[in-house]
Amino acid sequence: EAKNLGRNQYRMYNDEMNRRVQERNALEKDMRRALMADEFLVYYQPKIDLNTSHVVGMEALVRWQHSNRGLITPNKFIPIAEQSNLITDIGEWVLEEACRQCQEWSEVNELGKLQVAVNLSASQFKYGDITGTADRVLQKLTMEPGCLEVEITETMVMNDADAVSQALHHFARRGVSISIDDFGTGYSSLAYLWRFPVNKVKIDRSFIKDLLHNNEAQAIVRSVISLAHSLNLVVIAEGVETKKQLEFLQKLKCDQAQGYFFSPPLPAASFVEWVKEYQEKQAHKGLYRKIGR
Ligand code: C2E
Ligand code: MG
Ligand code: MG
Ligand code: MG
Repeated sequence: EAKNLGRNQYRMYNDEMNRRVQERNALEKDMRRALMADEFLVYYQPKIDLNTSHVVGMEALVRWQHSNRGLITPNKFIPIAEQSNLITDIGEWVLEEACRQCQEWSEVNELGKLQVAVNLSASQFKYGDITGTADRVLQKLTMEPGCLEVEITETMVMNDADAVSQALHHFARRGVSISIDDFGTGYSSLAYLWRFPVNKVKIDRSFIKDLLHNNEAQAIVRSVISLAHSLNLVVIAEGVETKKQLEFLQKLKCDQAQGYFFSPPLPAASFVEWVKEYQEKQAHKGLYRKIGR
């Protein structure tokens, strides 16, 4: 009895493993095709300065517009791309496309000055030439290096300190901005990260989610902001979904915010429309405030 059960479970487990491996291989092959077929695209999510309420920039987030599966989000394909090193090709494409878009928008007067943030993967530091690519793109577009920001995670810094450190110093010399994504989830500390030329920390969404209901989350956010400020780092909160969260973060003197409360990531054309509408609303609010005085 028990033996049979075990054998069946083993077979089921095996079938499931095989299915996953096949799915993964299929997706990997499909990704190569997609890269050639131009099926990747970049969405943009606005970042808001909490002192001025201005849109200061946007995070570039890749999407896969699959010919028959529809829109695929990065969590479904980035991990597979990372295992197969396709990530260096996809990552270089995203960097160039995001910079091209940012530079194009810099010529639209109403949009003001925008900084574009690009997410990088560990493999791009190990196997790719990420600093060379960035240099080439910035030069080709005659883009101000300060308008580019790279987002890396704590884990990337800790696991591969030498390669990452070299690249970060290169970015810093160039004037490219560096931020630590998902901060608080990786068991590192600001005391450690402080050795690297970092400009900004992005407090992970999980802490913002619990901010109003959980004393520990609140204590963490409060102390990250205060320590970051004493180290001259800019702090941005990720995943801000409600007005209450926003107001609380403002009280804690958080510098910037990003999240569904303002806008989800948007296709390029909608991003421009969103910024224009947002600015009109802000102008209106300012007017009311003046009249009210
Ligand atoms: P991330 O860099 O931490 O990006 C933030 C993610 O949170 C995005 O998911 C965004 O859509 C989502 N988000 C933003 N605001 C809110 C909110 O208020 N509530 C909730 N629930 N979610 C919010 P997305 O676009 O699915 O990307 C997931 C992850 O995939 C990114 O996390 C990043 O690690 C990775 N990724 C995306 N684009 C790229 C890329 O071009 N290269 C690399 N290497 N990774 C990328
Ligand atoms: Mg990010
Ligand atoms: Mg993040
Ligand atoms: Mg994340």
